[in-house]
Amino acid sequence: MIGYPEALALVIARARAMPVESVPINRALGQILAGDIVAPFPIPPFSSSAVDGYAVRVRDVAGATAGHPVTLRLAAEVQAGDFAPARLKPLQAFRIFTGAPVPPGVDAIVMQEQVQSTSGFVTLVSPARRGDNIRLRGEEFRAGRTVLRRGTPVTPPVIGLLATLGCRRVRVHRKPRVAIVVTGNELRSPGKALPGGAIYDSNSPALAASLEALGLHPVLRLRARDSAPKIRAALVRALGASDVVISAGGVSVGDHDLVRDVCRSVGIRQVFWRVAIKPGKPNFFGTKGKKLFFGVPGNPVAALLSFQLLVRPALFEMLGTTGATTLRLTARLEVGATKKAGRAEFLRATLHANEHGELLAKPVRGQDSHMLGGLATADCLVHFPERTSGLRAGEKVTVTLLKWSQG
Ligand code: AMP
Ligand code: MG
Repeated sequence: MIGYPEALALVIARARAMPVESVPINRALGQILAGDIVAPFPIPPFSSSAVDGYAVRVRDVAGATAGHPVTLRLAAEVQAGDFAPARLKPLQAFRIFTGAPVPPGVDAIVMQEQVQSTSGFVTLVSPARRGDNIRLRGEEFRAGRTVLRRGTPVTPPVIGLLATLGCRRVRVHRKPRVAIVVTGNELRSPGKALPGGAIYDSNSPALAASLEALGLHPVLRLRARDSAPKIRAALVRALGASDVVISAGGVSVGDHDLVRDVCRSVGIRQVFWRVAIKPGKPNFFGTKGKKLFFGVPGNPVAALLSFQLLVRPALFEMLGTTGATTLRLTARLEVGATKKAGRAEFLRATLHANEHGELLAKPVRGQDSHMLGGLATADCLVHFPERTSGLRAGEKVTVTLLKWSQG
């Protein structure tokens, strides 16, 4: 049995970024940039007004006070989308609107709330400073500057930024194709009758949803009874259709836990079996060529946490992430907990802040690995280290957030 950090490292070392493809920017959400993005022109592309107001020459209005107001003649109007008009002449002002190009000769924009305007004239009672309310050409990115780095996940603002640069398509790593196989004679689909001894299959929909939340649509969802030929047929189909296979159930030590044997027979090479974590001890991981095979345990909480702890990091590697790390927080445990030494436990908990802003983690009711209700109400995992057997109420613990969505 190996520890979780070792297991994770073994998985990461075998998960390679997928080949690069070019996709329309609006289809790239959740994928990861395969190269740096450079500004082809300055951003902003021209100097523009940041407000609705009046474009002036600082020199003309330098002495304006309530006692000595300065009145300028309104010479023209510029709105967003207009070409800049002629040069602003001394003692003139232009009416200007947000996003309009700053005309030559203008070195400040005064907000309309700060002036009095009468027909054809505008009166200022305070001076303007050079650059006031002007967004400068190239102030965010000069032409040729790197705007986004390789390895950046495509999020809504990234898509907006790509559009700002005029990109219609972007180069990203293609999404890994993932197949899901669930095993067990007892499994039925929701909606079907439930004879004695049977249960509804929750792993297939929950694992599929875990993928969907990352923008990955499972290419195949299969269910196999606990028979070697049936599991074999399912794994062969799944391997043929995907880059990653996640199978749930049948990896423990029972007589009907056949997945590992079948894996061997279809050419999957074991990298590890059993990890010193709870839930999730029977986790099996293997490879066939570049394909990854995760045999997660069937207990529903174990299956989903194995996805979070082992599968999700691998999928991010395949999507092309660079240097992703999990945010680790420190919180105080609200109530004490005990366990046996020898396995790291991940307690399902909710996180909140007290009146001093300190984080508190409160374990949820239902910590057993078949109790999905606990996981459904939790928003974080409290790390209960391998060698520790007791945590006191108020003790500082490491916490990671449960992320069912992207990022
Ligand atoms: P296994 O890992 O196959 O030994 O299964 C462990 C426990 O998880 C058993 O109680 C199974 O009935 C249950 N289980 C296995 N697969 C599923 C599934 N797809 N949905 C719900 N429960 C499952
Ligand atoms: Mg089973």
